[in-house]
Amino acid sequence: MSLAHITEHPLSNNALNFVEDARFQALLNQGQPDAERIREIVAKSMDKKPLEIEETAALLAADDPELIEEIYAAARQLKQDVYGNRIVLFAPLYIGNYCINNCRYCGFKVSNTDQVRRTLSKEELIDQVEALEQKGHKRLILVYGEHPDYTPEFIAETVRTVYGVKAGPGSIRRVNINAPPLTIEGFRTVKEAGIGTYQIFQETYHEPTYRAMHPVNTAKGDFMWRLDSLSRAMEGGCDDVGIGALFGLYNWKYEVLGLVAHSLFLQERFGVGPHTISFPRLQQALGRDVDEKYLVKDEAFKRLIAILRLSVPYTGLILTARERPQLRREVMEFGVSQIDAGTRIEIGGYTEVGDAQKIEREQFQIGDIRSLDEVMGELIESNYIPSFCTACYRLGRTGEHFMEFAIPGFIQRYCTPNALTTLKEYLVDYASPETRKAGEELIENELAKIEDGERKRRLMARLTTIETSLDRDLYE
Ligand code: SAM
Ligand code: SF4
Repeated sequence: MSLAHITEHPLSNNALNFVEDARFQALLNQGQPDAERIREIVAKSMDKKPLEIEETAALLAADDPELIEEIYAAARQLKQDVYGNRIVLFAPLYIGNYCINNCRYCGFKVSNTDQVRRTLSKEELIDQVEALEQKGHKRLILVYGEHPDYTPEFIAETVRTVYGVKAGPGSIRRVNINAPPLTIEGFRTVKEAGIGTYQIFQETYHEPTYRAMHPVNTAKGDFMWRLDSLSRAMEGGCDDVGIGALFGLYNWKYEVLGLVAHSLFLQERFGVGPHTISFPRLQQALGRDVDEKYLVKDEAFKRLIAILRLSVPYTGLILTARERPQLRREVMEFGVSQIDAGTRIEIGGYTEVGDAQKIEREQFQIGDIRSLDEVMGELIESNYIPSFCTACYRLGRTGEHFMEFAIPGFIQRYCTPNALTTLKEYLVDYASPETRKAGEELIENELAKIEDGERKRRLMARLTTIETSLDRDLYE
C-alpha cells in the first residue's frame, strides 16, 4: 500500500489543526449553564446567527428536560424559518468497494477477506443509473473505497458517465461524491467533471480515537491529511463541500464541537462554510471491531441534530438510511434538510438484489430499505414537500454565492417553487397512483399559500408544462 500522497504532496496553504482538544475537553466538563444563558444562545440562533464553539458547548451541557424541550422547539422553528417544509432527496451509488485501509468499523476494510470485492464496469454503472432514473432520482452521491484504482481521473470518468445517462424523461442533474482525500490537483480533476458537493467525513475529531480506529500504517492513518482535505478541496476549486462525523466512535458531544469548529474554520478561512453536515451513526458491519461504549442512543441522537441545527443555521443537515423509518420520521423535524431514499448500498444493488441485506457485500447495515415511492408518499402525508431541486448548483449559486442567497431568506423564494416543479415531475413520470393523488393535493395546498404575482404565475405555467408536455428540468 502506498502512503506516497502524504510524503509527496503538500497540505493546503497554512494547514491548521483547528481541533483544540484541551479547550473542547474543558468545555465538555463544564456544568449546566443557567437557563437564562441557554435561552440567550437559543435566541441568537433563532436570529439565524451561527453559534461560537462555547455557545454550542453550553447547549450540549443543557441536561434539564425543560431546556432540552426548548432546544427542540427552537430547532423545529428554525428549520421551518430557513428551509420551509422541504426535504431534498438523493440516493447513494456505491462504485467500488476495494479498499487499502483497515478502519475498524467498516465492512470494506482490507482485512475483511470475506467481503465480496467489486468495482462497477462502465456498462454496469450505466445500468445502475438507468435503474435509479427510472425510479425518479435526480441527485446521486457516488461512493468509493480508497484504492489506487480509484484515481481522480477514474472518479471524474464515473461522474461524467453518470451525467451522460438518460433513461426516458430521467436524468441525473447533480452528482456529488464521497471519496477519500485527494491532492489539490486531484480536486481540480474531479471539479472539472462537474461534481456538486465533495463530501468526506472526518469520522472522529478526537485524534487519539482517530489513531486507534485507523492504523497508522494505512493511507487513512494520517489525521491531518484527512482533516486538511476540505481546505485542499477549496484550493482545488471545490467550494461546495460536505463534512461529517461517524457518531459512536467517541463522545458525541466532542464530535459536535468538532463539526462546529470545522464549519467555523472553513467559513473564516475560505469565506464559505460547508454546504452540508452528515451525522451517520455507527451500524453493524462485517468484522466491526469497536468498543460499544460510545454508541449514541436515540435520545442523544435527537439532541445532537437539534443542537447542530441551532449552531449552523444555514448548513444543510443530512439524515441517512442508516436509521430506521420510525426514528427518521421523528428526527426530521429537528432540522434535517436532506435524506436518501430507496437506498441500496450493495455494489450493483439497484438492479441485482431485492430487499435482503447481505452483510458480506455491504459496508454496513442500513435501517431503512423502503422504496423511493414509499418514502415520497410518507413525506407528502406528513406535509413535507419532497424536492429533487438542483437549481442553485446549475445556476452557479454555490459556495460563497450560495451563502449570499441563503442568508437573506432566498431559500424559500427559490426553493419552494423549484421543489414543487420537481415534485410535479416525479408525480407525472414515476409516482404510484396513491402518491400521485396525495402529491397533487399537496401542490394545490402549497400554491394556495403563495402570494399572487409574477413568480406564482411562472410557477403555475411550469406545472402545466410538465403536466401537458415532455418538457422537464424547469426552474427559477
Ligand atoms: N472510503 C471513503 C472514506 O473512507 O472516506 C469513503 C467512505 S465510506 C464508503 C462512507 C462513510 O461511511 C465513511 O466515511 C464512514 O463514516 C461511514 N461508515 C463506515 N463504516 C460504517 C458503519 N459501520 N456504520 C455506519 N457508517 C459507516
Ligand atoms: Fe475503506 Fe472508507 Fe471503509 Fe475505511 S471507511 S475501510 S477507507 S471504505
